[in-house]
Amino acid sequence: LTMNLDNDTICAIATPPGRGGVGIVRLSGPLAKEIAAELVAHELKPRYAHYGHFEDGEVLDTGICIYFPGPNSFTGEDVVEFQGHGGPILLDRIVRALVKRNARLARPGEFSERAFLNGKLDLAQAEAVADLINASTEQAARGALQSLDGVFSNRINALVAQLTYLRVYVEAAIDFPDEEIDFLSDGKIQAMAEALRDEFNSVLATARQGALLRDGMTVVIAGRPNAGKSSLLNALTGKDSAIVTNIAGTTRDVLREVIDLDGLPVHIVDTAGLRDAPDVVEREGIKRAYDEIERADHILLVRDLSSPSDEADWPSDIPQPDHIPLTTVLNKCDLAGVEAGIHSHSGQATITLSAEHGDGVALLREHLKDAVGFQTAGEGAFMARRRHIDALERALKSVEDGLFQLFEAHAGELLAEDLRLAQKSLGEITGQVTSDDLLGHIFGSFCIGK
Ligand code: GDP
Ligand code: ZN
Repeated sequence: LTMNLDNDTICAIATPPGRGGVGIVRLSGPLAKEIAAELVAHELKPRYAHYGHFEDGEVLDTGICIYFPGPNSFTGEDVVEFQGHGGPILLDRIVRALVKRNARLARPGEFSERAFLNGKLDLAQAEAVADLINASTEQAARGALQSLDGVFSNRINALVAQLTYLRVYVEAAIDFPDEEIDFLSDGKIQAMAEALRDEFNSVLATARQGALLRDGMTVVIAGRPNAGKSSLLNALTGKDSAIVTNIAGTTRDVLREVIDLDGLPVHIVDTAGLRDAPDVVEREGIKRAYDEIERADHILLVRDLSSPSDEADWPSDIPQPDHIPLTTVLNKCDLAGVEAGIHSHSGQATITLSAEHGDGVALLREHLKDAVGFQTAGEGAFMARRRHIDALERALKSVEDGLFQLFEAHAGELLAEDLRLAQKSLGEITGQVTSDDLLGHIFGSFCIGK
């Protein structure tokens, strides 16, 4: 694998934009050590925290400089980190001093991409770096850390080993046609195929949970002003993340937020914010919220049980997507003197609850998790992406096709070919099989400095 891997020395600010106690500039490549030595005006010892000035004609900052010789560094190349004060001007000046000495600015994700191309991380692990940084719940962070540690990759590699074993067995049998009859009728292939199928399904189930940890679910909350949408949001999160007031229309600026539902990130789109669009910026926000409604996993229609006038259904000024499951929430059961509970009628649920007092809220939490099939992460949980699931599904399909060829059509050669295809699909997950397009797509969505 040599694609995209040039010999440049790259640099970037690795800490987030803005001001902070510490700011870090990262430098990676063949010139890293030499360039850094000029800035600190002395030689650098491996993995040693040098305290002193960073200079380029004048003192740029005071801080710590650490040199990690390749290949035992994040990228696998010589890496130097300048840890200075976290001011954008200071960090910019360090970067300029590096660029002056023939380093170039790193592209988004280029450090991680180099780590991948140099074999420090496989592709699923490199993706986990980004997913770890972007994790929106504690469970998601734990899952991403598991993937970064190779838990997911190990399961894929084990699957590949199982596939290879079966393929070698099948190919050997094809090479000795006299024995093909025995090979077809002995139970060994059948047993291997069953074990392989079970393992595929087990990895897929965990990966699907992992993708939920990463992407979460999107829930649209609709209902009249004062029905209790914000209160419901708070009741679901268990902390005060939405503004609750008794003045109609206060949720106007909150179009979207993420809550943590027992580890499942739930993106909430509040339709109350979708009513009027006074300026361009807000209109753009509203357009995006509409798109999100179209792709939502669930709709909660909140109604106020205590108010006879609240018979409103979906807001009349917003098109209702009828392909999305909808749950009616009858709120303020405390005021109406009604018991909390859940009723299902032809697949549509109605939940009676009190957002303010909490009765029935647990029912709604469970209901939402069930709706997307989310289980609280157990042993061996890891984070995964949609593309991993696609590849796993394709691989499993190839295996199924191949087994059909063998058992139904008695065509062992076709099984061998399908097993090869399956292996190729799995290779896309860890990056054994890849294209510049895929890499560009994955690393291009990283931040600069990662
Ligand atoms: P939204 O406009 O739909 O977001 O409604 P809010 O969540 O801001 O709630 C409107 C008012 O109803 C607030 O004064 C809440 O305290 C009150 N409220 C919301 N849910 C309940 C409930 O379950 N019981 C009672 N008694 N009051 C509630
Ligand atoms: Zn509100």
